[in-house]
Amino acid sequence: MRWKITIEGMDEFGGRDAAEMVIEKDIGRLSNGEIGLTIEDGKTIMGYLQQLVVKQQCEAYVLTSRYCTDCRTFRRIKDYGKRKIRTVYGRVEVSNPRIMNCRRCLPYFCDASAVLRDICPDQATPELMELSARMGSLMPYRKAADVLAEFLPIPSTESFMTLRHRTMKLGERLDEKARDRAWFEPPSSSEHKQAELDLPNDPEREFVVSIDTAHVRCSRSENARIFEIAVARCGRGRRGSPPGHYFATADTSKRELRSRTLQALQHEGYVGRGEVTVISDGAEIMKRLPKALPKPTAHILDWFHIAMKIQPLQQMADHIVRTSATRSGQAISIGDDIRSVKWKLWHGQTDRAIDRLEMIMAVSAIQSSHAEASAKRLLDLAQPLLTYIRSNRDAIIDYGARYRSGRRIASSLAESAVDSLVSRRMVKKQQMQWTLRGAHRLLQVRAAVLNGDLRERLAWQPPKPTHRHHLTWMFEPTPPLLNVA
Ligand SMILES: [Zn+2]
Repeated sequence: MRWKITIEGMDEFGGRDAAEMVIEKDIGRLSNGEIGLTIEDGKTIMGYLQQLVVKQQCEAYVLTSRYCTDCRTFRRIKDYGKRKIRTVYGRVEVSNPRIMNCRRCLPYFCDASAVLRDICPDQATPELMELSARMGSLMPYRKAADVLAEFLPIPSTESFMTLRHRTMKLGERLDEKARDRAWFEPPSSSEHKQAELDLPNDPEREFVVSIDTAHVRCSRSENARIFEIAVARCGRGRRGSPPGHYFATADTSKRELRSRTLQALQHEGYVGRGEVTVISDGAEIMKRLPKALPKPTAHILDWFHIAMKIQPLQQMADHIVRTSATRSGQAISIGDDIRSVKWKLWHGQTDRAIDRLEMIMAVSAIQSSHAEASAKRLLDLAQPLLTYIRSNRDAIIDYGARYRSGRRIASSLAESAVDSLVSRRMVKKQQMQWTLRGAHRLLQVRAAVLNGDLRERLAWQPPKPTHRHHLTWMFEPTPPLLNVA
């Protein structure tokens, strides 16, 4: 069977155009399971259709642009070039004429311009740019290029480098838009729309920023070997409420962290006031954030980081208790002592926990001088814990009370964010090396994809200055070809 597909178009001015294409379906191959249209057929059909549509649109655009609204004649064409427009349904090569200035209106000013540059400045449609960046952010560029070529009539010349280039470009664009947006839409406390107003004593009224750092290997061109990326999730305080918006940035300056956090919080309904709680593992660069945010902002040390640091200590103490139970009564209490340190920390009694820990260490120091290997080991484990608690003293709170009131006490959200944003794409494969800028831009796209607002963020435009409306009104052209027709 020969299938003839007839394509008919009618433009805005009544002009008609028709084209045909043929698809052969051999009945003999039906027994081989070749039933219906294949992906290849689909690519051929859509590719053909796209050629027609794009060419017609470009021709119409050029014709419209040639019309001089002042003297109502068509401007001359200087010469013809070619322009490639890449779309999701293949690359279309269109004729790209350069149009002279109007000879009547500007007789002494001889210049020509190619108008097709105005449409599709990237030489790829925004849809293809977005799709490329989306795929490039989810899997290695080479693999993403293969997947796209599998289903879409995209020529093999569009290598993985093109994909990388597009992902980087959109990452950069997202950054620019974020900067503009922070400028034009800062969180304002004047609007009475923050949800927390209606939520007295509800854990939901609190905003929680879980933040963590990820480490990424540098490429050889960079000075350092590993660089840090701040990854966060900003949501509401109740345990089990939606985890909220992601953000990631390789720029860990105070200003950048503040601006990123506020923007993510705005998505959760934050307008610049109310409680914000930052939960982190106490890393130095994370301590900058709570200071930079609007008051009142509290900083909490992630409970699981404390618990994880106590655990080996507990195991060692239990070991000492088991082995020395038969020998003397003195060591028996050490397991309970460690448990009591943990209990005190859980209830936010930091000073008492420090006292108890120092006491344990003093006892262990005496024992280790008697060549007790396990006491020495205990001492080695206790020292970093003590330092950790001392340097984060202000960020240790009554976790018990906070937990019972249904609020978040751990930065596990940030850790899962590190995993879904950074590790899966950038760290797991150890041979992959990144530049700081490349990693940052890729993460902008990746975060936007996971947040589900890539398209919305790319489409965002800064508000136009008001006086411009007046100008456009003055120079507004009358619909050109309608006058000619
Ligand atoms: Zn003119």
